[in-house]
Amino acid sequence: MINNIENSIQKAQSECSRTGLRLTDKRCKVLKILLQAEEPLSAYDIVDQFKSSYAESLSAMSAYRMLDFLIHANFVHKLETSNQYLACSHICCAHEHELPQFLICDQCHTVKEIGLRKQLLKELKGSIENSGFVLSSQQIELHGICKSCLSKQAETNKNL
Ligand SMILES: [Zn+2]
Ligand SMILES: [Zn+2]
Ligand SMILES: [Zn+2]
Repeated sequence: MINNIENSIQKAQSECSRTGLRLTDKRCKVLKILLQAEEPLSAYDIVDQFKSSYAESLSAMSAYRMLDFLIHANFVHKLETSNQYLACSHICCAHEHELPQFLICDQCHTVKEIGLRKQLLKELKGSIENSGFVLSSQQIELHGICKSCLSKQAETNKNL
């Protein structure tokens, strides 16, 4: 896991120097917090963790600004329905980033990021637009129970 985090940071750094963005020390620290987090965090969670991990204070205002930067660079995503943030699962990937779709576990609160095929999205958008509805966000956030919670549940049921 730690190795994975280091890899992601390195990849983010090289991606930034390639595209002329500046991944400052503070931005990098915010990204690291999100990479280490097991569930999505609010901006205030990030401010708290920044303080406890780095003994440095971060205002909510600058946290929002750094998050905007990280979202723009596609290293971080924002869950619109809960106003929480999570690191992109594909920072180390070479493939093109697809439109993210999030599967949110209502039990352990972990979020799995999966890509939605462009064709599927086109069809979805078409049928939404046909009904006269205008989308403000194309991000899809679905709630349910993850695989590991499901198998834990099955395990408990067996022992009853
Ligand atoms: Zn992503
Ligand atoms: Zn990937
Ligand atoms: Zn779960």
